[in-house]
Amino acid sequence: MRITAIRATPVAVPYRTIETWAFGRRSGMVSVLVELETDEGLVGLGECATYPSTGIVLSVLDSLKGLVVGADPFRVERLVQRIDVVGTWHHVKATSPAIAAVETACWDIVGKASGQPLVNLFGGRFRDSVEYFYYVASPDIDAVADEGRRAAAAGFRTCYLKVGSERIETDVARVAALREGAGPDMSIRADANEAWSAGAAIRAVRAMEEYGLELVEQPVSGRNLTQMAYVRGRIDTPLLANEASWTRYDQLSVIQHGAADVLSVDNQMDGGLLNLKRSAGIAAAAGMTVLKHSLGELGVALAAATHVIAATPNFRHANQAYGALLTDDITVGFGGGAENYRSGHLPVPDGPGLGVELDRDRVERYAELYRTKGDAEFTFHHPQALTSAPALPKF
Ligand SMILES: [Mg+2]
Repeated sequence: MRITAIRATPVAVPYRTIETWAFGRRSGMVSVLVELETDEGLVGLGECATYPSTGIVLSVLDSLKGLVVGADPFRVERLVQRIDVVGTWHHVKATSPAIAAVETACWDIVGKASGQPLVNLFGGRFRDSVEYFYYVASPDIDAVADEGRRAAAAGFRTCYLKVGSERIETDVARVAALREGAGPDMSIRADANEAWSAGAAIRAVRAMEEYGLELVEQPVSGRNLTQMAYVRGRIDTPLLANEASWTRYDQLSVIQHGAADVLSVDNQMDGGLLNLKRSAGIAAAAGMTVLKHSLGELGVALAAATHVIAATPNFRHANQAYGALLTDDITVGFGGGAENYRSGHLPVPDGPGLGVELDRDRVERYAELYRTKGDAEFTFHHPQALTSAPALPKF
C-alpha cells in the first residue's frame, strides 16, 4: 500500500467560555484535520493542534509531502525516522504536531486495513475507558464555583484550573471557590504555566493546600529543573511537570533531576503515538505515573490518544482534554461537549483504526468558520492577550 496524498483542512470550533491562562487567552480552538489517501482507497485520519501557529503547521505538512507521498503507511517507524533525520525535523516541539498528525493517520490506516482498533495494536485494553478532567476556565470567582458544581453533577472526578494570575490571593480564592462548588470529593489540579518564582510558588501552593490539591502543575519555569526540585521538596502537593516535559528527552532529564512527581506526556508535542507510549515507558521505568497533556484537540486526536492510554498501565490520573470547553466537534459522538463523557470517562472506540467517523457537514461548517474568522479569533494569539507583555516570574 502507498500513500498518494496529504489533505490538510484547518477547522475552528468555538469554546463555551474564554480560556485564560497566566499569559494568554483563547475563545476557541483551531485544529488542522489531516487525511492521508492511499492507492487502495483507505483514508487515514490525523489531527494537529495549531501550535505555535496554523501557518507553521500547514508549512510543515507541505514540506513533508516529498517524504510521505509514496511511502508505505505500515512502515511507521521507518517513515518517522525519515521525517526526523532526512527531513531534518528532529528539532522537535514547534514542528511535532504536524508530524504527529501524519503518524497518527498512518496508524489509522494500519488499523483499518487489519480490522483492529488501535488499542489492540498498542498493547490491548488495560482499561476499557479513559478518564479526563473537567476544565474550569473562567477567571470569575462566582463562575468557578458554578463550574465546580456543574462538573460534580456531570460525574467528573477531577477539575483543572489555571492559577498564576497577578495576585496569589486571587488564585487561592479561586481554588477555595472551586472546592466550595465541587465538594469534598473532587480532585483539584492547579496549573501555573511557569508563572511563579520559587518563593511565590511555595507560598501559593501552601496556601492552596488548605483546600486540597491533587497536583500542582508547572509552578515555576520548566527550564530550571534544579528550581523545580527545590520547590518540590518544600510543598506537600505532588508536582506535575508540563512545560519541562514536552518530549521524551525532556522527561528523562526531569527524572534525572528529581524535578517532578508526575510527568505530562503529549503525543502532539512529541511527534506521535509511538512516542506517547515510549514516554510512558520511560516514566514507568522510574516508578512514575504520567498523564496526557493537551494543546487542545478535537475528536480525531483525542480518540488516538485514548487508544494508547487505554493500553498503557501508568496513566493513573485524569488526563487533559477540552470536552467541557468545546461547543462541538467534527467527529460523530466523540470529543467536544461534556455530554460525551460518562463520569469523566471516554469509552475506547471499538471500530477499526481510530474508530471515529467524521461528520462532513460539521467539518465544512468549521472549515468555513476558520476561513471567515481566521486565526485572530481562535488561536493562541488572541488579540487581547497580544497587547500585554507579562512580567515573569510573578513574585
Ligand atoms: Mg499545563
